[in-house]
Amino acid sequence: MLNSVPTLTDETIESFKYMNFPDIAIKVILKFIGNIISEEKLQQIVNNALNFNIPLERIANNDYICYLDRGPTSSFKDFGARMLARIMEHFLEIDNKNITILTATSGDTGGAVAQAFYKMSRIKVVVLYPKNEISILQRKQMTTLGENVSALGIKGKFDDCQRLVKTAFADKELSHINLSSANSINFGRLVPQTLYYFWSCSRIIDKKNEEVIFSVPSGNFGNLTGGLIAKKMGLPIKKFISAVNENNEFPTFLRTGVYTKVEPSINCISNAMNVGHPSNLARIFDLYGGQIDEKGLIHRMPNMEELRKDIVSYSISDELTKETIVNFYKEYKKIIEPHGAVGWAALQNYRNNYPKNNDVKSITFETANPSKFPKDIINLINIIPEMPQSLKLIQDKPEFPNPKKISNYSDFKEFLLKEFQD
Ligand SMILES: *Cc1c(COP(=O)(O)O)cnc(C)c1O
Repeated sequence: MLNSVPTLTDETIESFKYMNFPDIAIKVILKFIGNIISEEKLQQIVNNALNFNIPLERIANNDYICYLDRGPTSSFKDFGARMLARIMEHFLEIDNKNITILTATSGDTGGAVAQAFYKMSRIKVVVLYPKNEISILQRKQMTTLGENVSALGIKGKFDDCQRLVKTAFADKELSHINLSSANSINFGRLVPQTLYYFWSCSRIIDKKNEEVIFSVPSGNFGNLTGGLIAKKMGLPIKKFISAVNENNEFPTFLRTGVYTKVEPSINCISNAMNVGHPSNLARIFDLYGGQIDEKGLIHRMPNMEELRKDIVSYSISDELTKETIVNFYKEYKKIIEPHGAVGWAALQNYRNNYPKNNDVKSITFETANPSKFPKDIINLINIIPEMPQSLKLIQDKPEFPNPKKISNYSDFKEFLLKEFQD
């Protein structure tokens, strides 16, 4: 599918400079979906789904930060989840069908998906989360909704939730339930994740043929994949900096050509990036002519020369992440949270290693709001980060009790069958 990425002309991309975010978004999305959604309907979907700001701020010299944390769950996952929800609902309406989204979450995805699909009449949502491994706020983003959203706390790790979901998808006795996933390799989530690349680039380019560097905090590599697609569509991107935490399987692969997943994944403070074998790596390999399977075995090597030309990747330790949060506050009087700090630290590595590119502007993505990590921020800089209104509302809401205690697959299956018996 990715071999047929559509392209935009240079003139179109240059014209983005004079357009607002929704208009750019519509131009880009229409390239993918042609006329299967009318422009008017798409406009409605975009305005409704992406109804929040995307601030871009110059921090120092040529280095900017683009804030992707202004959606209702304060994580960049709102972009993909909210667009996917509305596009799905649109097509289900046309086909007169209903579906059930079944998804496992390590924290942020479940909240973004639950909030995005809340009250959609043709879609039920079942989210599984590791009961003792997510924050209270992350849990509340799923458990305070009710209606069409069921959130099931599982005693175990993310991998256990994932296993239950995968087993359900393969179970023939559940085939009457129209199950669908909303995970990050879903194309409906990737396309919206190209939009802020086009938008942020258009705000800072002011010369013809000017290129931009992006530093992307990476876990499952969906964000980076969105960027690579944007580049393939024609966006003038000089380099991607793929910034990972101590789960360093990707930078090691780039350097050595040998891929070894990190198993079990390492727990770092940038917890949405604790991924030891990113599922979107399959997409990235595909974009560069390679093939890798779910287990992490490479069947065909991607074009390493091209891959290294486009992407440089750095692994940032927790220690350096914390140091970055402290120094960032000292120097700029602004708070950066752990995921953004990994991106910013990787950018500093790049600037030190490639001083000849210092005149090329860079954009680092801040992917979450600091108030989601109050403990770390308070410990490091002794400031309580202000919570956005949308999170305050969630924090104060009562939770629905866990709908069923689930200890194994048969419990889970029983829940699904009961829930969907009619
Ligand atoms: C999911 C997430 C990431 C990682 O994004 P990927 O697309 O999985 O690489 C980074 N930061 C935050 C806050 C996230 O929720």
